[in-house]
Amino acid sequence: MGHDIPKLREFERLVFFTGAGLSAESGIPTYRGDGGVWGKYDYREYACQRAFDRDPAKVWLWHDERRAAIAKSLPNIAHELIAKIQGQRPGTRVITQNIDGLHQRAGSVDVIELHGSLWRLRCEACGSRSENFDLPLESKHCDCGNWWRPDLVWFEDMLDMPVIEAAVSAIEQCDCLVSIGTSAVVYPAAEMPIIAMRTGALTIEINPEETPLSLLYAHSLRGTATELMALLAG
Ligand code: NAD
Ligand code: ZN
Repeated sequence: MGHDIPKLREFERLVFFTGAGLSAESGIPTYRGDGGVWGKYDYREYACQRAFDRDPAKVWLWHDERRAAIAKSLPNIAHELIAKIQGQRPGTRVITQNIDGLHQRAGSVDVIELHGSLWRLRCEACGSRSENFDLPLESKHCDCGNWWRPDLVWFEDMLDMPVIEAAVSAIEQCDCLVSIGTSAVVYPAAEMPIIAMRTGALTIEINPEETPLSLLYAHSLRGTATELMALLAG
């Protein structure tokens, strides 16, 4: 298969489209699969607006624990190679479903976060955002008086339209899309690699397991994010 693997340096406008599998080798569990978060916790208790309205303290505690665990994790070589490529070729865009902020910690800029970030807060009432996530619970209130909640796309939430539009626009302009560690079963994430296929970009999938979209990629590579990114970036 060796000769068949494209080199990323041949492309100017890359899109890296990433999911939980990219951060698996940083020690952050993926959502589905073995050891996945939703196997252990019921999202209806921790990850939807209704749970938050019922018991904000409980939902905040859970998210604070997840953020503390992620703070101890480090970006891996795959995050770092993506940031390095973006540094060399500024036409590169990163679109992620991850909420862990590891792309930014590795040095990537203008990251399009489809599902928000554990490192931001937002107010549902007035739309304000804040990065002051260290506030004690009793002070987790926006100036307008409403609760700050994590700036995430929870179950039953809508995605942010401008964020989707930015992602689609980046994908329409790319010459190569590399999808890494996503099962891509949830709309609109599942749609995104298809847009690149339609507009004629070269598409590459990195995943140790086959996904429902594997057959559609020009190159569907079986392996982990760190080993295959090292190969493609070489
Ligand atoms: P997913 O859990 O549905 O799928 C993860 C995929 O990664 C699987 O296809 C798996 O085969 C693959 N994978 C596992 N180990 C890998 C490795 N070492 N290298 C490459 N791929 C590997 O994740 P998803 O598609 O991102 O969707 C789940 C949702 O959960 C996302 O919307 C995301 O917001 C959220 N999530 C985020 C994080 C995070 O921020 N790190 C972690 C878990 C879940
Ligand atoms: Zn407000």
